[in-house]
Parts: sequence; structure tokens; C-alpha cells
Amino acid sequence: MSEAIAFDGHEIAPETRAFLNQRGKLLIGGQWIDGSGLMESRDPATGLVLAEFETGGAAEIDLAVAAARSAFQGPWRRMTASERMALMTRLARLMEQNAQLLTELDIVDNGMPSFIAGLTTSNCVEMVDYYAGAIMRIEGSTMVPPRHIAAETEALTYTLKEPVGVVGQIVPWNVPLSTAILKLAPALAAGCTVVMKPSEETPLSALALGQMVIDAGFPAGVVNIVNGLGADAGAALAAHDDVDKISFTGSTRTGRAIIQGAMGNLKKVSLELGGKSPVIVMPDVDLNLAIPGVAMATFFLQGQNCMAGTRIFAHADIHDALLEGLAAFADGMKLGHGLDPATQQGPMVSAAHAEKVMGFIDRAKQAGANLIAGGERLDRAGNFIQPTIFSGCTRDMEIMRDEIFGPVMAVQKFDTLDVDAIAELANDTSYGLSGSVWTENMSTAHRVVSRVRAGHVSINCHGAVGTNIPFGGYGQSGWGREFGAAGLEAYLETKAVTARL
Ligand code: NAD
Repeated sequence: MSEAIAFDGHEIAPETRAFLNQRGKLLIGGQWIDGSGLMESRDPATGLVLAEFETGGAAEIDLAVAAARSAFQGPWRRMTASERMALMTRLARLMEQNAQLLTELDIVDNGMPSFIAGLTTSNCVEMVDYYAGAIMRIEGSTMVPPRHIAAETEALTYTLKEPVGVVGQIVPWNVPLSTAILKLAPALAAGCTVVMKPSEETPLSALALGQMVIDAGFPAGVVNIVNGLGADAGAALAAHDDVDKISFTGSTRTGRAIIQGAMGNLKKVSLELGGKSPVIVMPDVDLNLAIPGVAMATFFLQGQNCMAGTRIFAHADIHDALLEGLAAFADGMKLGHGLDPATQQGPMVSAAHAEKVMGFIDRAKQAGANLIAGGERLDRAGNFIQPTIFSGCTRDMEIMRDEIFGPVMAVQKFDTLDVDAIAELANDTSYGLSGSVWTENMSTAHRVVSRVRAGHVSINCHGAVGTNIPFGGYGQSGWGREFGAAGLEAYLETKAVTARL
């Protein structure tokens, strides 16, 4: 399929090209099987078709859930913790050996620059290793037995941690491998079995991962991967009566649909949703640090980042100098194919998404925000939008309120030093995923942080996520936490046991 694709003159490894030339199928019960539909994946930097992949709907989700249930009740349940740990460790090594394939698939499928794709692949390997190690640290506790039993006899009360069961995992397109692994790894460590539905925009790296799951030797049905449309395969998975938990990452709007779907059997639900994160720049900031840091808070991953810091609150004392620096940074960013090592910003994931982002930019211009950088779509193949900055924004403007999911920054000036007033600006949103405070005064920094309603707040940096650090949202940014110990706990049930001795 990809023989003719030139990738803007950049080469990919022969293994990646061979992968693109196969038609991706569905991984169900340890076998690659045909789907009931066919879709194409395009390189967003060129618009050219990369690969074809088969898709499933409700019937294939039924098959996948049955395979996951049978693996859960059979071989997977009977394996020892050491055996499961060894399988996960083998998966991590296979991912490491195939890092170039995984990295290049996310670059050509999603459009992300290579420095980000390389980083996310190595983070994913670390995450599989981390959760493999965590299997041996799953612990219950002992406690004082109930009074009425202890009065009669010696007794023992303890808790057991048990896997939730069959888990549905619905993944977005913005960091495809990463969002898949940060669901898959803790679920496997907990002893769950999985039916994963990747995004129809970026189906490829999950398929490569599926083959590595087979090669690592996981029992058939422990991991099932069904590509397909959200309203079709995704909705069927969310509503399935034999799924015990659904873990979803995506938009807040779809999150609501997931909850509706999950109501039938009241399955457990974890949601990682959208954001509109504040970036607060105080007057005593180190501008040398803040200018590139604040710019990348918005432009990292071309702004297609749930943590993106897109509402910038700049203190009046540094407002003009900050804006000048940010505009120069944005104007100097190199846009291009993700395979080009010099690329700092890639394309929007699809033509439709680029149009949506341009709609926000056009309406911001009409609403009277001052355009100080970018604002245009590049006149070339692919879905490229210039890094864009608006100043003079006010709290009621659409660009200060809605998640754009593109390279668009909105800057609002403030002139108080009162931390409560500053936090009120930051908290004027229905979201609460991320945020950052930029100042040399650590007392101010921690006082502001304690008032910001968000699950993940950074000081003099932005979006500092890590394998072991809990991540998730307040408000309409989600339910629950991923990463670290909290990410594992999300796939465990607690059983309390009392024995009369
Ligand atoms: P999306 O909600 O459109 O799609 C996400 C996934 O849900 C896809 O696999 C899609 O096929 C599926 N889906 C769509 N409709 C569905 C339905 N009715 N039922 C079941 N599944 C359905 O989101 P997206 O455009 O792929 O991703 C962008 C969004 O994801 C942004 O809002 C972003 O903030 C959010 N996101 C959040 C995090 C986080 O950790 N909080 C991380 C990445 C992305």
C-alpha cells in the first residue's frame, strides 16, 4: 500500500514499510481475523493513504468480549503472578526491540514529530516494566475483626485485591501508543483481560502492539484489539453487558455517551477527558525559562494534547515582554513531516480536524481577539496550521472556554498579586485536568497551586507527567486516575474476608 509514499522525502525502516503493506485485521482470541468493514489510514502530513485496516462492529465486539471472558476464567486466572510478570517483561523487551517500528507508525499515522514519538515509545516500555514489577507489590491488609465475632472466638479479617474482570478500553488518536499502553499495562498487571478499541484515526501502532502480545506468549484472548468507528464498535463495547469495566480516554462529549452506555449493567467507568488548562505567569518569572516553556505548554503535540496549557494569564508587569517572546518563538517554529528530525510541529491529525481548528481561529478574529502570531493554514499538502497566539482575550470568549485541540494560545492580562483572585481566573472553566504556575517565588507558587482545581499542576514547567505520577482530572476532565499506583488500583476490586478461627 505504501510503496509509492515518499513521506516528504524521508525514509522509514523496511519493517515499517512492510507493516504498512499488510492489511491490519482484528485480534480476537489470539488470532488475526477479518472484520466486517474496511477503512484507510492517511498520513496527515501528506494526505496520502498509508494503509488499509479492517474494522469491526457489534458482532466482532461480542466475539472479542467472549474471548476475553474465557481467558479471564481460564488460563489467565490460573497463571501465577511470576508467570504474568514474565510475560509483561517479555512484552516490554519486544517493544524495545521494535521501538523504531512503533515510533514510525505513530509518526506517520498521527503526524507527531519524531522527538515526541521517540519519547513516548520509550516511556511506554518503561510503563510496561513498571507495571510488571507492580504485580509483586499488589497487597491487601489485615484489620481488626468485627466486634460481634471477636467477642465469641478468635478471628482473622483481611482484604484481597482481585482483578475487576473483562475490561473495555477505548483510546483516542492524539498519542496512540501511549494512551493504549497506559491502559493495557495496569490492566494486565491487575489480572484483567482486555478488549481494546483504538481510534479510527490512528489504528496502526495498536496493531503492531497486538502482534507483540502474541509473540510474547500471552494466552489467547487476554488482549483483543478491535478497530472500528466510535459510534459502532466503541458504543457496543461501552454498552456490553459482559464487560465489567470501561476505561475511556477522549472528549468530554463522548465521555457522556460512554456513561450512558455503561448504565445497562452499571459497569465500572474510568474517564480521562478534555481540558482547557491555565498557565499563570507571575511578575517575578524568569522569562528565559517561561517563554519556551509557556509556548510549548500550548504547542507541544501541535496542541492536540489533553494537558495543553492554552489559557495564558500574564501579569501586567511582564505581559508585553512575554508576548513578544512567545510570538517570536511561534514564528520560529519549524513545521514539517514528523520524520524530519528538525520538525517541532506536525500537522493536525485529519483534514476535518484542521477545519474545526481553523473555525476557532476565524471566530476568535471576529470576536476581537488580537492575532499576534500565526492564524493561517499552510498552503501545502497536509493539515498544517501555524502556531497561533491571540492576546487581549477575555473570559467570555470561545477561545478562553472551549477545548480547541490545536496550536492556538489565548492570552489574558491580569494585574493583581492576590492568590485567590488569580486562582479564580484559573478556575473559571468546567475542566480541571492540568495547569502551571511560573514564578521565582516558591511561596507564591505553592499558594496558587493549592487553590487551582486541577488534577496535575506544575511549577516552572507544564504537563510534567511520569510513569509513577497519578494523572487525571477534576470537574469535567474525568473520573479516576491513571499512571502509578492509582492506575493499577483502577483495575482492582477489594474483597474483605473474615474467618472464624
Ligand atoms: P473522541 O471522544 O472523539 O474519541 C475517543 C475514542 O472514543 C475513539 O476511539 C473513538 O472512536 C471513540 N468514540 C467516539 N464516539 C464514541 C461513542 N459514541 N461510544 C464509544 N466510543 C466512541 O476523542 P478524540 O478526538 O479521539 O481525542 C481527543 C479528545 O481526547 C480531547 O478532548 C482530549 O482532551 C481527550 N484526551 C484526554 C486525555 C486525558 O488523559 N485526559 C488524553 C488524550 C486525549
